[in-house]
Amino acid sequence: MKDQHHNVVIIGTSPLAITEAVWQKSKGKSVVNIDDKAVAGGAWTNIKHDGIPAVEIGCHIWEVEKSATDFLKAFYDLNLVQFKPQPRILKKGSSIPYGWKLNLSTLKYVLKRSLRFEFKRMKAGLATPEFSFSIVPRKYLYPKGGANELHAQVMNKIESEKLDLSLNTELKHVKLTESGIDLKLKNGDQSTCDKLILTSLSSIETIEFEDGSSISPETKQVDYIHVHLLLETSIPKAFSYERWMDDEYIHRVSDMTSQVSDELESNQKLLCVGIHAKKYHASSHETLLEAIIERMKNRKLIEGKAKLVQHGFNVFPSYYNSAAKLTEIEARSNGKISVLRSTSFTYSFFNHADRFAELVNIS
Ligand SMILES: Cc1cc2nc3c(=O)[nH]c(=O)nc-3n(C[C@H](O)[C@H](O)[C@H](O)COP(=O)(O)OP(=O)(O)OC[C@H]3O[C@@H](n4cnc5c(N)ncnc54)[C@H](O)[C@@H]3O)c2cc1C
Repeated sequence: MKDQHHNVVIIGTSPLAITEAVWQKSKGKSVVNIDDKAVAGGAWTNIKHDGIPAVEIGCHIWEVEKSATDFLKAFYDLNLVQFKPQPRILKKGSSIPYGWKLNLSTLKYVLKRSLRFEFKRMKAGLATPEFSFSIVPRKYLYPKGGANELHAQVMNKIESEKLDLSLNTELKHVKLTESGIDLKLKNGDQSTCDKLILTSLSSIETIEFEDGSSISPETKQVDYIHVHLLLETSIPKAFSYERWMDDEYIHRVSDMTSQVSDELESNQKLLCVGIHAKKYHASSHETLLEAIIERMKNRKLIEGKAKLVQHGFNVFPSYYNSAAKLTEIEARSNGKISVLRSTSFTYSFFNHADRFAELVNIS
């Protein structure tokens, strides 16, 4: 990266950032993806705990959006299958299909806009996948091999498209000039580009505009905390992904057994549990394990006699920028910076469906 010039610099190496790189390259641009992590993939990489097969870092789910999943299937050659059983949301001991949460947020949205007589705005909102209503639960899809399958295909794409990656590289400061963009890295190296592409999760300390004014995005760090549990048990009550709404320890649970079944004994299951940060930081690992396992037994996700064989906690630091700040950065950059909105995986591909469709034969 040192003293190099690229037409386009993209922050991150997530599937979205890699797809963007392929698209930019297809337009004849010189492109580099930079990532402060040592491995490409962003939130869709995997982790290897001692004694547990390499598996995705946390519980994942893809929102249902057909153009996005059609594109991902075609572009990354994924074997997408329906979750079995479908994901659910759990509250006060009862559960509803996961997709119904969209019905609730859509009803709220329609009510709010109607009360304010914002009908034009409401119509625009209802054209996005973030708001829709369906009594028949939507069918959630996911790669059969989980994020490991996606990650392997992202790595294949990086190789087949000969993409230029700069890992272990953190961008700190950005300065827009008349002729382009000056980039200052954490290690003190500098380079330049014509266009910088961020995502919602990029963390930049300062951006200085051509008029000399600057923005410090004040990106929030959000830690995703999970524990993977390798257990000797059967699963009395089959589940794939559950969002727990009112538990003080657990906010989501995934059964990842099918993703790595070839590497497990026939009586073993691999589960992953998302843990609330407040409890994680206030408790020892022993207390957390006890509380989590007890809750999963009570919910009959594992047997009463389930034996914990191995476990691994992991804290994955991620970032979050306010949407308003990102809009302001784009607006003040005179087209030199653009932002890929990326808080939801499939919606981020929906936002660019027309452009990305040029990369495969789907319309
Ligand atoms: C554990 C976890 C679980 C998630 N689960 C889901 C889910 O189930 N469904 C869903 O839709 N979304 C989920 N998300 C959100 C997910 O982040 C998005 O789906 C998508 O991956 C965002 O892509 P991205 O490129 O913006 O960010 P990421 O995938 O996070 O990749 C960004 C990369 O850029 C790096 N980076 C940031 N700033 C800089 C910088 N200044 N210099 C160099 N590198 C930098 C980051 O460290 C990271 O490696 C999850 C996120 C995490 C962390």
